[in-house]
Formats: sequence, structure tokens, C-alpha cells
Amino acid sequence: MDRTKIILEERDMPTKWYNILPDMPTPLPPPLSPQTLKPAGPEDFAPLFPMALIQQEMSDERYIDIPEEVLDVYKLYRPSPLFRARRLEKALGTPAKIFYKYEGGSPSGSHKTNTAIAQAYYNKLEGTTRLATETGAGQWGSALSMACQLMGLECMVYMVKASYNQKPYRHMLMEAYGAKVVASPSELTNAGRAAMADYPDHPGTLGLAISEAVEDTVTHPGTHYSLGSVLNHVILHQTIIGEELQKQFALIDTEPDVIYGCVGGGSSFGGVAMPYVRDNLSGKRNVRLVAVEPASCPTLTKGLYAYDYGDEAKMAPVVMMYTLGHDFIPSPIHAGGLRYHGDSPIISSLYHDKVIEAEAFKQIGVFEAAMQFIHTESILPAPESAHAIKAAIDEAMRCKENGEEKNICFLLTGHGHFDLAAYDAYLNGKLEDDEYNEADEARAIASLPKVG
Ligand SMILES: *Cc1c(COP(=O)(O)O)cnc(C)c1O
Repeated sequence: MDRTKIILEERDMPTKWYNILPDMPTPLPPPLSPQTLKPAGPEDFAPLFPMALIQQEMSDERYIDIPEEVLDVYKLYRPSPLFRARRLEKALGTPAKIFYKYEGGSPSGSHKTNTAIAQAYYNKLEGTTRLATETGAGQWGSALSMACQLMGLECMVYMVKASYNQKPYRHMLMEAYGAKVVASPSELTNAGRAAMADYPDHPGTLGLAISEAVEDTVTHPGTHYSLGSVLNHVILHQTIIGEELQKQFALIDTEPDVIYGCVGGGSSFGGVAMPYVRDNLSGKRNVRLVAVEPASCPTLTKGLYAYDYGDEAKMAPVVMMYTLGHDFIPSPIHAGGLRYHGDSPIISSLYHDKVIEAEAFKQIGVFEAAMQFIHTESILPAPESAHAIKAAIDEAMRCKENGEEKNICFLLTGHGHFDLAAYDAYLNGKLEDDEYNEADEARAIASLPKVG
């Protein structure tokens, strides 16, 4: 119990991903075609994704072997370490033990590499020569650029223009990995040209970048589209996190009482939580699983559980999820990766069935928690990940008040080395707490597709 770093040997790395779909308490309602609002089948997804990923999206097999070539790349940075945050515990004066699993040691800096490698691999296997995608904050574009280089694919990234200009080092990293990156809206697609004709200084949105990447995909032979969160197969690939975590806690003969993870589209939280959901449902464990979101984009805690479009442009499938409405525009909080209007259907369904919990925090408190973590544990977290730190610290302080010796764990999804402008704003008192506008809720209901 006195270890600071709990390292799993490479030979003990999990070799299978865990698929929650056959174990869901309520089966997922089918995705619908955005054009017809009728259930979408594999053929609807075939222009965008390789068959292997479409099958994983709907698979009822509990365990899926991680291909050898993917395991080989995982070994560049996996198993990821589990840390005991002793200095943070001491600074807080809590009797609780705080643990965190760190995904920021991956070459691209976040957990997104776990699915990027798998997606590039399956595409390569089926003859894809080029992948197109969008990126907002830039972590996903970096991960896919790296994966495409390793698998021998070309990579085309549409990066939201505001982010392209604010975070130049992110697109330079993608370019160093060999990707082609353009600011979106761009001159390369009809969607981009139309947006700029209306509004020459358009700052771009994630929805518009998705439209450009999808248009690029269907107009370039050999190209497929790739998405870094939300989808079932993305959560599947991320389950290596939770499977490793269980083995790491077993090494120190400890069981977490609660696990916190930040949630944007839900892939990293899904990855750490699904193996625990499996064991909670079968009665083998009893671990609280808490999704943490920004108060300015409170999808789970304030959204509706309904069918909605996956994107602003209404090109992505319509899925049953917690949503703030596909045309919801979140305030420009610094955790760019948590600004999605919806949430993964898997996470949404589990939250609806009360299998997992959710909490929301405002950004100033989140940055305060990040600073406590930086000053004690020395890793500078991504602002997204700092939401989970905030939740863990609050729980540790409750333990202090109540004299409870709980084991608290959180997932540290990435480092924040490209987010220093956000820290600079915080340190100079320029961050504001933006509120979620309750009036938006009514507007969101009105914008939902009329299904059934
Ligand atoms: C993208 C991202 C997130 C949010 O995405 P999820 O799919 O919810 O995991 C969180 N943290 C980091 C570092 C990210 O890059």
C-alpha cells in the first residue's frame, strides 16, 4: 500500500476489449438515419466506416481480441501508470486515499490514441488509403495523425478555425506527424465555401468541421471518416483503461470506492467505467462511477433523454441520448473537449438507468482544483481532466469532514501542455464562470427531431 506508482508489466497488459452492449440493462434503441428518421443499418454507415468498425458498433460479443499490430503500438505507452496522489492527500489533510490513472503519457498526450490506433488499423486492413476527420480542441486530430502515420495512411484534418488560430502548436504537431490540416471553414468543400460566403470571418464550429470532413470523405475515393468519441466502438477501444485499472488495484489489494472521469462525448469515462459497470451489474463489485461535466454544458445533469442529431449539420445519425439540443452553442469554456451538446448513447442509457451518476462543476473551481494538483503532483492536467480532479478533491474533503478513509480514484485523461493559454487566463483573473441558460432548455426541446 505504500507504493506511489502502480505499474503493470507489459506482459500483463489486457489483450481483449470489453463490449458492454450485451450486458446493457436496457438494450440501446437503434440509431436512425438523419434523412428518413428510420432505423439505420450497416449499409447507411458503409460510406463512412470500414465493416470491422460497423460490426463492433453493433456487436453482441462480450470480448473482442485486440489485434496484434494494435497491441504493438499500445506498447509504446501502455500499460498506463496508476499513481497514488500522496502529496495531494497530505495538502488536503484528508484520511481518504486518492489515486489517478494517467493517460497523458501517450505520444499524442491523451487517451484518444487508444482508439485512433485501432481505427487506423481496421481501415488499413480494408484498403482505406486516407482518413478524414474534424478536431475542435486538437487532441483527437493529434491522435489520429499519429495513428495514420504509423499505419501508413494519409490523414486530412479539418480543425475549427478559432481553435486553429488559438492553438497553433496543436496543428503543428499534427503536421509533424504527417497530416494535412486546414482551418474550418475551408475552401476545400461546398459546406466550407457556403459558410464563408455567408460570413467571411466565420470562426468555425465542430458541427461545420464534421460537415466538411464527411463531405471530403464521400467525394474522395479511398477515404473514410473517423470519429474520436461518442460511438460504441470508440468506447470499446477505450475499455483497455478500465481493464488495466482493475489489474493495478489488484496488485495492491485495494478496491476503489468511487471513480470519477470527465465527460465530453463519454469515451474516456466509458473506457474506465465499463469493466466496473459489468462487475457492479453481476454483483462482483460495488464501485460508484461518476461522470463529471462542465456546468456550462451540463448534458447529463440538465439535458433531456431523447432522440437527437449527432451534429449541428444534421448529417450524423440520430441517436437516443442526453442532449442539450443539436444547435446548442456552449459558452467558450476552456475545456474544449467537453463542449459536445450530446453524450454517447451507452453513457446516456446507463445514466438513465441510474447505473452511473453525474455531477457538474463551474470552470473557476475546476481551475482551482487543477492548481492544487499541479502544486502537489506536478502534472499539468488538460482542463477537461481537471473536472475529474475537482470532483475527487471535493469527495476527499467530504471524507475529511466525516473522518472516512475512502479510496477515491479519477482518470487523468491528458496533459494540458497545449492549453497553457487557459491557465494564463486563470492566473491573470480573466476566467469567468459562465452559467447554463435555463431558457435554452425550452429551445432545445423545440429543436429535437420529431421521432415516432
Ligand atoms: C477529448 C478529450 C476529453 C473528452 O472526450 P471523451 O470522449 O468524453 O473522453 C477529455 N479529456 C481529454 C484530454 C480529451 O482530449
